[in-house]
Amino acid sequence: MMAHSKDLLELENFIGGKFIPCSSYIDSYNPSTGDVYCRVPDSGKEEVEAAVKAAQDAFPVWSSKSPLERSQILNKLADLIEHDLEAFAKAESKDQGKTITFARTVDIPRAVYNFRFFASSILHHVTECTEMATMGCVHYTSRAPVGVAGLISPWNLPLYLLTWKIAPAIACGNTVVAKPSEMTSVTAWMMCKLLEKAGVPHGVVNVVFGTGAKAGEALVCHPDVPLISFTGSTLTAQRITEKSAPHCKRLSLELGGKNPAIIFDDADFSQCIPTTLKSSFANQGEICLCTSRIFVQRGIYSEFLKRFVAEAKKWKAGNPSDPTVNVGALISKEHLEKVRSYVKRAQAEGARVLCGEGVDSLDLPAGNQKGYFMLPTVIAEVQDESCCMQEEIFGPVTCVVAFDTEEEVIKRANSVKYGLAATVWSSNVGRVHRVARRLQSGLVWTNCWLIRDLNLPFGGMKASGIGREGAKDSYEFFTEVKTITIKH
Ligand code: NAD
Repeated sequence: MMAHSKDLLELENFIGGKFIPCSSYIDSYNPSTGDVYCRVPDSGKEEVEAAVKAAQDAFPVWSSKSPLERSQILNKLADLIEHDLEAFAKAESKDQGKTITFARTVDIPRAVYNFRFFASSILHHVTECTEMATMGCVHYTSRAPVGVAGLISPWNLPLYLLTWKIAPAIACGNTVVAKPSEMTSVTAWMMCKLLEKAGVPHGVVNVVFGTGAKAGEALVCHPDVPLISFTGSTLTAQRITEKSAPHCKRLSLELGGKNPAIIFDDADFSQCIPTTLKSSFANQGEICLCTSRIFVQRGIYSEFLKRFVAEAKKWKAGNPSDPTVNVGALISKEHLEKVRSYVKRAQAEGARVLCGEGVDSLDLPAGNQKGYFMLPTVIAEVQDESCCMQEEIFGPVTCVVAFDTEEEVIKRANSVKYGLAATVWSSNVGRVHRVARRLQSGLVWTNCWLIRDLNLPFGGMKASGIGREGAKDSYEFFTEVKTITIKH
């Protein structure tokens, strides 16, 4: 039954340190029940204009604070989020569909760490200096915040990815207007409630909720927002690039992936199988870094497939609050239909679906019957040209195919438009280095997955993005550099 609007959680925009209601709202669903439970502001130009103005007003004071002062505020904000970790984890799970366990152990701890990490890293940058003795000159570089940063984030890791942008942007002295995904806005709104207590001055962080077409595009087109940091799909990035071009905006684009796992015949199965299950199905496969093409060397192909499918069948989908469940709900009904359609297309092309969608049945509790659930699905014998091997599915679906030689697998792994992340499994160190160097991929994990040092660059090649994020890379993106020459 549809809830009455007064029973729904109603979010407000956060502009200039104040929560401000909007004139119209969008329904937001709980993916694990299919019910509308929240109303999200349907902001547009007017709200974005107000937020940009507030951010501009806050810029002179915030940008002139010392890195240490800003660092202390970021650390305080990290502490406050951590203090409410359980409430944030429950909210993220309800809003996004992911399991509470995942939100509690991955999303929210990482959001906390994003603030701590940049609170620390901002204290340790050094600028360059060179001497030209023959000319009697020294040159040095100076870095300054750029201004109002526009930050746009997706629905799969809501607070995790939004804070991965807010933290470096404000640590560097910028002020921000952030627009989270309209499908997952709640934890950003909860964070806004902590900003004043953390000591973030009014107007430094503004959050405008709404759709990409209205609120997102208003931000991208705003002449006083000189940089946009965007994480989302390649298609949206193309539109953002076009719309921002007349203003020559600085863009950071973190986009989709079609990530290969390459498993050589000397791989350690005891590590490789559980990690590849996680890399394929964690967070319902809704992570840009998830594996969706598994290349297995022919000699171990049958054994791998048998063990991988047997383990995949043990994954349980259901109520995201149940600690025994490892697959939550997908983000929306439309997305579930899209993911399912890939499985149907693979079948129609003659591939074999070994478990999950269409093979095993879901066993859902009464309250979750209308949720958007799907079991981990393994497909074998898919052609490399098939859309299942070429397009980002972004769900719990992975394709397993055989290969013979190192040369062949590198070519096949690289034969997609994306280039975000790859994993390589082998106990031969020389081979691991050789293959890693030749893969067209911004990140290569060997004998592991998703272990990140935030100091180092993160980002994709080809259609997976432009630019990198990380300690040094984010610092460079969120600051403007100047070279100064002194003649003595
Ligand atoms: P999306 O591109 O549909 O939306 C992302 C954000 O952009 C949302 O906030 C949306 O409202 C906004 N948006 C949409 N149209 C816009 C427009 N015209 N102008 C401005 N903003 C607009 O992506 P999604 O479906 O929310 O997220 C899933 C995608 O994100 C997948 O492709 C996934 O791979 C990618 N992703 C990439 C990374 C990475 O780091 N590379 C991380 C997570 C997700």
